[in-house]
Amino acid sequence: MNETSAPDQYQPAADPLAPVERIRTRACLEALPAYIAGKPSVDDGRRRFKVSSNESPYAPIPAVVEAATEALATSNRYPDMGVLALREALAARHDVDPQQICVSTGSTAVIADLVRAVVDPGDEVVYPWRSFEAYPIIVGAQGGNSVRVPLTASHEHDLPAMAAAITHRTRLVLLCTPNNPTGTALSHEALADFLRRVPEDVVVAIDEAYREFHEPATVADTTALFREHANVVLLRTFSKLQGLAGLRIGYAIAHPRLARALTAVTIPFGTSAPAQAAALACLRPEVLEELDRRADALRAERDRVQGALAADGWDLPRSQGNFLYFPLAERSAQFTAFAEQRGLVLRAYGVDGVRATIAEQEANDLLIDICGQWRERDAQA
Ligand SMILES: *Cc1c(COP(=O)(O)O)cnc(C)c1O
Repeated sequence: MNETSAPDQYQPAADPLAPVERIRTRACLEALPAYIAGKPSVDDGRRRFKVSSNESPYAPIPAVVEAATEALATSNRYPDMGVLALREALAARHDVDPQQICVSTGSTAVIADLVRAVVDPGDEVVYPWRSFEAYPIIVGAQGGNSVRVPLTASHEHDLPAMAAAITHRTRLVLLCTPNNPTGTALSHEALADFLRRVPEDVVVAIDEAYREFHEPATVADTTALFREHANVVLLRTFSKLQGLAGLRIGYAIAHPRLARALTAVTIPFGTSAPAQAAALACLRPEVLEELDRRADALRAERDRVQGALAADGWDLPRSQGNFLYFPLAERSAQFTAFAEQRGLVLRAYGVDGVRATIAEQEANDLLIDICGQWRERDAQA
């Protein structure tokens, strides 16, 4: 191939001695948005709290760290490719067959497996927007067409519009409850009503990464919905409440045919032995009890902060996650910079809003304080 017919994405290397790259990457990658990760805390000597990635402020429970560490000692061996011990434990917990538990390197990877399993190039995937920013990347990388259905004015899934967006090209619908980044959750009735309207050949994935932070009395019984609908798949992770974001492990609860497809496409030996051991340790009764206590504490902190901000005049969507969403529109970047100067690293979403993770009490108090300063400055302006 001569110089002039080189593909558009060709970028000359900065190093003049480096070999010229003439490979072609897939055209669908051109349109992919970049994943903007939560900013790390910069080390300039000032204390800052990184509340930009919805991580747990707690270190993993010691028994979990111990289980992972023990697994490290045999790292010369491949992990159990079938992830059998963990899948059996999860199956018992969810009262399904172990074949119905599909484990991968985080539930983000499970979503990628799901898209690889059901979406051909040109097929449509319907999801709410804003929502988890991995969705457009995963769908686009597979050559699928994203059909983004805007959230309602109250920052919730617009389920009637999502149902109306389903066409004969739709293979997959993604629901996120509680929704990242807005924190809004879907009720059992709303989900049940939506599922009745979705054609039986369209897969509906319910991403429940933040399920444990939802008010327990009102959380949707998604397991019951899963049992009623053969096209529903539930997505869970160990990254949030369990505090294993750095170890990379999550799973799907799927019906048998989809479970076989997920198992067929997942990368072999993806989940490491330490990750499998740590996740298994998270299911021990005494660890589950401690995780429940942590969920209670984080929920209480969330409600305390949301209450304090409401009393100060902030009208934020009611969050059921471990984070709050500030729909500040074009002032989002300004608010994020304002908070960062005062010690809080937040996550901004373009001209939509800003997300703050509920963390240790000191960070939460600082968030309330910064929000107060912002309003005061506003009042003076
Ligand atoms: C954090 C998160 C996940 C889980 O990510 P992992 O890959 O398991 O770390 C899934 N969905 C949403 C909406 C999330 O915010």
